[in-house]
Amino acid sequence: MNAATATTPAKTIPIARRGLMLVISSPSGAGKSTIARTLLETDKGIGLSVSVTTRPRRPSEIEGVHYDFVTKPQFERLRDSDALLEWAEVHGNFYGTPREPVEIAMSEGRDMLFDIDWQGAQQLQDKMAADVVSIFVLPPTMTELQSRLHRRAEDTEEVIRTRLANSRSEIAHWGEYDYVIINDDLTAAFDAIQSIVKAERLRRDRRHGMFDFVRKLLDEEPVLK
Ligand code: ADP
Ligand code: 5GP
Repeated sequence: MNAATATTPAKTIPIARRGLMLVISSPSGAGKSTIARTLLETDKGIGLSVSVTTRPRRPSEIEGVHYDFVTKPQFERLRDSDALLEWAEVHGNFYGTPREPVEIAMSEGRDMLFDIDWQGAQQLQDKMAADVVSIFVLPPTMTELQSRLHRRAEDTEEVIRTRLANSRSEIAHWGEYDYVIINDDLTAAFDAIQSIVKAERLRRDRRHGMFDFVRKLLDEEPVLK
């Protein structure tokens, strides 16, 4: 590739389309947050859905960036007032997706990423099937999954034990997803997710602006050159 093609963005005709709801799930420690973070840093067209959770904040986490950390009564109030698009209990804590930011993003045709578990993925799939693209991330081995949970060094031994114990029942849901990525090499896993996003953005049924484009195309009388 020469310098000109590397730096010049491809010339494309913009076609209006619906936003994607990119749902990414995995057993804890498989690397979905790492892949998601890299995608969000690389592709500014994708926003993150920031969940609410009753889980205690990890040392590296920032309020409002990684999660909105709430008490159980606060969570229950949000859930009972229908402010959550989906919610679930995972590893003994409550997690939920605030409804409003998603509805705004979708109405504006913006893409959103959801780092949620299989229960949340099922709920979004039931409610918004046409917009959901679901991806399940698997670890290469269970031994590596265990090492990653330890290497992350953000949870207590007890929390790590619970998460490992839950991993097999979470992995059992892999077949409910549109795509499955084995996160052995991070670069390869990231390439895979980028390819998925690129292809899903091009799907005909999402690009409602195509009707307009084709109508104008067919109305056009070719000019002889
Ligand atoms: P999850 O969000 O699925 O719970 P994380 O993204 O927090 O998992 O990743 C768990 C740990 O594994 C982190 O320390 C991360 O840096 C590491 N990790 C992620 N992907 C890989 C990979 N392909 N190879 C080695 N380590 C990885
Ligand atoms: P963690 O505590 O490691 O951040 O997340 C634990 C699990 O909860 C992960 O599988 C994560 O994807 C999931 N999770 C995070 N936010 C939500 C949410 O809003 N809804 C659901 N259903 N799961 C979530």
